Amino acid sequence: MQDQSDPLPPEDINCCIAIGKKLTDFWLEHGEKSHVRRITQKEALDIIEYQRSKGSINTMYCKVATGGKTGVLCSCRPEICVALHTQLSAGQLKYGRKIKSQAPSGYLVSINEDACKNCGKCTEICHFNAMIMNEDGKREYKKDLCWGCGLCTEHCPQGALSLYLAPDETGLYPLDIDLDKELVEKARAENKKAQAWRDK
Ligand code: SF4
Ligand code: SF4
Repeated sequence: MQDQSDPLPPEDINCCIAIGKKLTDFWLEHGEKSHVRRITQKEALDIIEYQRSKGSINTMYCKVATGGKTGVLCSCRPEICVALHTQLSAGQLKYGRKIKSQAPSGYLVSINEDACKNCGKCTEICHFNAMIMNEDGKREYKKDLCWGCGLCTEHCPQGALSLYLAPDETGLYPLDIDLDKELVEKARAENKKAQAWRDK
């Protein structure tokens, strides 16, 4: 984890993107100390591209509490993100992979073995130990640890890696929130009630 006495560089602060009018209005009103500012779609894409080039992955927060809507799009790394760090630590426990504050993307990696030069770049960039150098010094893909973040595919200099959607292998698509309509409807009704109370 990042040493809190060591301030983050500006590019690492410039990485969380709120989506949707209610949340953005709230951030803009209360987030002055947290460097909140309104940005264009192009700036958002530039931030994401820059952060991914530095090894960040993207997480979307579409919580039941937001009525199933997208709330925040983060570009982050486990070294500076409490949520990712916690998820990774839990993954090292025997049953930890069942504890999910985040869900993997539902994609897996396809490898063109002929193109791979075994340079190890993908193993350096993977936060989940899904791409490793094995005891024989060969790059090895551990599918069951993969979160489908896509970083390795973007950082492979040979273009040997690509993502494919794998609902049958990951069991993660569609996301649970799509399946649990009842829970989402309940959260929406509660949000409405809370909003009515705030508007009083
Ligand atoms: S980054 Fe690409 S070329 Fe290098 S080991 Fe990984 S798959 Fe092979
Ligand atoms: S897509 Fe999978 S293997 Fe590639 S960096 Fe992400 S978690 Fe690691």
